Amino acid sequence: MMETNVTSASASPLAEAVLGESGQNVNLCYQCGKCAAGCPVSYAMDYKPVQLIHAIRLGMDDLVLNSKTMWLCASCETCTTRCPQEVDVAKVMDAVKITALRKGIKPAIPQVASFYKAALSNIKICGRMYELGMIMGLKMRTFEFFKDAAMGMKMFRKGKLKMIPSLTGAMRTRRIFRRVKNIEDKNHSTA
Ligand code: SF4
Ligand code: SF4
Repeated sequence: MMETNVTSASASPLAEAVLGESGQNVNLCYQCGKCAAGCPVSYAMDYKPVQLIHAIRLGMDDLVLNSKTMWLCASCETCTTRCPQEVDVAKVMDAVKITALRKGIKPAIPQVASFYKAALSNIKICGRMYELGMIMGLKMRTFEFFKDAAMGMKMFRKGKLKMIPSLTGAMRTRRIFRRVKNIEDKNHSTA
């Protein structure tokens, strides 16, 4: 069940969308900046987590949905742990990504979106991460066939990349994917 930090509606339609996707009300944020101060990748973001939250509250859809910030988020949850207002900032980042994709906005860092898709489809098929299959799926999506090839060879020589996937639990994982899809379809038909 989705955890919510409030039940009331938020001001901007984008804040409403974030509330609907994640159960998080960004209007609780009082801009203390603790989330940004602890974020290990904020140096590379175009807008720090605290800025993105503020932009969501102001309804700055273009800025938020085209930002690199949520695509760079590593889901480490440091921000979530630090927030004195109990805003789950990591969940907000996920909600913004989902909202952008639903609106057909191209991810600002397409390689990250490709990685998510490759990883998820790999887990759906194999039941768990099969690294070699995931790498091949990623290469097919990004067309960067030779990127990190030297590192891949090194991993292969050290036995870190298996040729044959283990399919233990694959059926159970597929059932989980099906259940999630049903829940999502139900939520969207009632939205
Ligand atoms: S979850 Fe994302 S935004 Fe939060 S601290 Fe980690 S990387 Fe930064
Ligand atoms: S830590 Fe929480 S209250 Fe502080 S700026 Fe970040 S989201 Fe807002």
